[in-house]
Amino acid sequence: MRGVMESQPALPAEDVQLVFSERFSGHATPAGHPERPARATVMADVARRWSDAGGAVAGPAPAPDRALLRVHDQLHLDTIGGTAGQRMRLDADTFTAADSEEVARLAAGAAIAAVDHALTGGRGVAFVRPPGHHAERDRAMGFCLYNNVAVAASHALSRGLDKVAVVDYDVHHGNGTQWMFYEDPRILYVSLHQYPFYPGTGAAGDVGRGRGEGFTFNVPMAAGAGDADYGLVFERAVEPVLEAYAADLLLVSAGYDAHDRDPLGGMHVSTGGYARMDAALLRAADRCCGGRLAVVTEGGYDLEALEACLAGTLDVLAGSPVPPAPAGNGSTRRADAALEQVRRAQAPFWPAL
Ligand SMILES: [Zn+2]
Repeated sequence: MRGVMESQPALPAEDVQLVFSERFSGHATPAGHPERPARATVMADVARRWSDAGGAVAGPAPAPDRALLRVHDQLHLDTIGGTAGQRMRLDADTFTAADSEEVARLAAGAAIAAVDHALTGGRGVAFVRPPGHHAERDRAMGFCLYNNVAVAASHALSRGLDKVAVVDYDVHHGNGTQWMFYEDPRILYVSLHQYPFYPGTGAAGDVGRGRGEGFTFNVPMAAGAGDADYGLVFERAVEPVLEAYAADLLLVSAGYDAHDRDPLGGMHVSTGGYARMDAALLRAADRCCGGRLAVVTEGGYDLEALEACLAGTLDVLAGSPVPPAPAGNGSTRRADAALEQVRRAQAPFWPAL
């Protein structure tokens, strides 16, 4: 990493900044759509409680073209820009309304702001909608207009970082993030996801291409995986690969749709299971990345689970202790099967796994 942090004084480890805007409810979707404005209302409630308890909350600035163009092409910006003021359907399940372009730019800007806070030595958390990780270089997809976490990762590189790790625990594979950085060794993309499942990508054998080989790290798990599976995958794969890669910044694509209550996902992660993943990521950031950690939300469609997990993420980052997993936490056969595939695919690149 080239001289980004050296002049910054160390901040307390519990320095957490939430980035959020009430405008995130302004991206309207058709009635019955799971990615709905009520998700932003839940985010606002959690943000208000955080603020009332003395937590820092900042509002985002819209992401400028130059930030979006690091991962999207001009045609995509023109397409999304062209939806301003109207309702449009961009793919089977991706819609815009009058203000969606403005809101999507704010979401990408919030992800950038979370990174900027992390680069001061603190922890940044962006509560955003629409989510981002399915958006491709040239098109919107799967509820996503701009790829918020990818914009944030490329922003970090533009600020002088050499290596950024992105861990994506959304139940869906982040196809957009994978392909944007598929040939780029400066971004390690680690995804745990239900497989086979939407969007169809994310096989263990997808490991990157060219100079990016070994820097896409997919952990595909069968439907039905729960806390024990996710815990084992973190212990045996996610934490070791983060340690070996030694990124300058850890970014999290925080999708809460692997929760047991989620209506779209088929996984059984509990609220406590999510907190344990967050705690593991926080430890990894402290060990590998100088504590620099930024979290950007993705999916999560059960409002009760979303609220609990968002609050849990803030609490964990603020230093609240996380109880260990209960003994006899369940079967790990889905994780065992996934880990075998991952080891086979990644052995040439990560021999210590
Ligand atoms: Zn998802």
